[in-house]
Amino acid sequence: AAEHANFDVSKLVSWKEGEPVPFAFLTAAFELIGEEPKRLIMTRHLINTFRAVIATTPADLLPMVYLCTNRVAPAHDAVELGIGDATLIKALAQATGRKEEVIKAEYDEIGDLGLVAAKARASQKQLFPAAALTVQTVFKTFQEICAMSGTKSGDRKRGAIVKLLARAKREEAGYVMRALQGKLRIGLAEQTVLTALAHAAALEKAGGAGSSSVEQLAGELEQAAQIVKQVYSECPSYDELVPALLQHSIDQLPSHVHFKPGVPVKPMLAKPTTGVSEVLDKFTDAEFTCEYKYDGERAQIHVVAAAQGPPQVKIYSRNSEDNTGKYPDIAALIPKRLKDGVTSVVLDAEAVAWCRETSKVLPFQVLSTRSRKDVTLDNIKVQVCVFAFDCLSINGRTLLQEPLTARREALYSALEPEPGKLELATAKTSRDVEELTRFLDESVEAGTEGLIVKTMDDFYEPSKRSSHWLKLKKDYLEGVGDTFDLVPIGAWYGKGKRAGVFGSYLLAAYDQDGEEYQTISKIGTGFSEEQLKQLAEQMGDLVIPEPRKYYRYGETLVPDVWFDAKSVWEVKAADLSISPLHKAAIGLVDGAKGISIRFPRLVRVRDDKGPDDATSAEQVAEMYRRQAVLQQKQKGAAVAD
Ligand code: ATP
Repeated sequence: AAEHANFDVSKLVSWKEGEPVPFAFLTAAFELIGEEPKRLIMTRHLINTFRAVIATTPADLLPMVYLCTNRVAPAHDAVELGIGDATLIKALAQATGRKEEVIKAEYDEIGDLGLVAAKARASQKQLFPAAALTVQTVFKTFQEICAMSGTKSGDRKRGAIVKLLARAKREEAGYVMRALQGKLRIGLAEQTVLTALAHAAALEKAGGAGSSSVEQLAGELEQAAQIVKQVYSECPSYDELVPALLQHSIDQLPSHVHFKPGVPVKPMLAKPTTGVSEVLDKFTDAEFTCEYKYDGERAQIHVVAAAQGPPQVKIYSRNSEDNTGKYPDIAALIPKRLKDGVTSVVLDAEAVAWCRETSKVLPFQVLSTRSRKDVTLDNIKVQVCVFAFDCLSINGRTLLQEPLTARREALYSALEPEPGKLELATAKTSRDVEELTRFLDESVEAGTEGLIVKTMDDFYEPSKRSSHWLKLKKDYLEGVGDTFDLVPIGAWYGKGKRAGVFGSYLLAAYDQDGEEYQTISKIGTGFSEEQLKQLAEQMGDLVIPEPRKYYRYGETLVPDVWFDAKSVWEVKAADLSISPLHKAAIGLVDGAKGISIRFPRLVRVRDDKGPDDATSAEQVAEMYRRQAVLQQKQKGAAVAD
């Protein structure tokens, strides 16, 4: 508690209890957080920011949290900030009386529209100072801007932005601009926000927790963070979490915030393994089942009964984004394939490209050519088949805390499969090594990636890379190992034939503990010319003037341009090695050196993953250790030969 008191952000800007929180308070906190290189202290600033609000004006906590995460609604609501630069430049010109060309030129030079706006507002004389902005006003205006559509919506959006800017002081204008661009990146990962919320609520509720010993307090805070993260992974919506956090004790949260149909749960994930024998070793005492691992796109399908009319169907991606517009065919099919008596259901499934002529699954590359939005039923170019593998809720009964045996029973009792359109994942239960090896071969012959092996007695674990689900991919058997999901954070300009595009990129893994992006490799070979062009176009929008302070890279490996950490690339590599140059997993395997990958090749851009979902430092270390064990084994085998 004493340490917390050292960082009293509420001294930055003050307001009276019950009064709306000034936006200037939030931007002052952003400045503090943005300048702070140490993760721990950054988190403390955020804890104190939230504490100050809880103690005075708790109703402002929700808009505050949304503004910190640069969102106006939960991810599944498909409402996103991201106003085009042209509109923002026009609005800034109007609000400050400067010429658009001047603003554009400054933007080109500085590369940050926020800084341009702050400068413009600072140099503007104001005869009659406008009423100060509040957190509520800014958030409400953002919501209104996102909801504007139809004729003249561009003008109306601009009008609303001008109004905000006219009331914004220096830094406030900067943050308004960056937030509207959708580029407010002060390095606050979702997990930090959740930790800060938990600590702030716990400390405020205990009246600053003055009576506990330091160890006891640390333990209580740790537990509070775990509970908050757990309930949020079941119900990823601040609309649900924040009011409940204010109203109830943290222990009570699980009975108020939990899974509910209509809000996508964060999906359960699997861990890699090297072969059938490793599976048998790991699951010695557990009953398990093997399922084909289909290579498509994860689809969490929510069918919710409506009071009147047909049920509402929503399809969510691995990242909880609304994919219903991409799959109207699935949305139309599922309610027709529910068995009698099933009125609502939540399925975990994989949508896979399907060839109707051969009745076979097609590779992911085919699925990736399907349009992403506004697909209509009469204009579907890539047919899909849904392979359902789990059931998370049936007729309003949540099954997350039921064993897979019960969830599978529910799945089988809910659906009437239709070949080529809706099928149950092919599964086999056996302990026989030969039988399992044969099943793995069959899965590969059937065009899937291999198997996922699951224990029958365990619950569904939202957002966890669980040791109860193991993936057995054919790639592992070929000795290639799992692919990496990496974030391009920088690039070098191409030369010669590659002039005009980026010739190579700097890739990073994500260290979840330190919340930083650590470089793992440069990638420059294996791209087609067309691909380089496309990538340069996509990445061009993400260029930032300086590296983020949460990028960790070698001083001798500085790229020509830096990117915002947004994109995720799936990359295959030959092997991993200790590197004096790269920083991935630094301190985990070697105290001072990181790990790099050799001969990286781009497999695909992963639109369904966010940068926080990239391969973690811990996973990189694990892969390195696994490789070392395999090499030892091979050496042993060679000696024995
Ligand atoms: P992850 O989702 O684990 O981060 P990933 O998306 O890169 O990783 P893999 O690790 O290769 O994919 O495999 C996990 C994914 O496999 C799941 O997210 C799901 O989309 C897909 N999948 C296909 N068939 C199944 C199945 N039978 N059970 C569970 N997942 C399956």
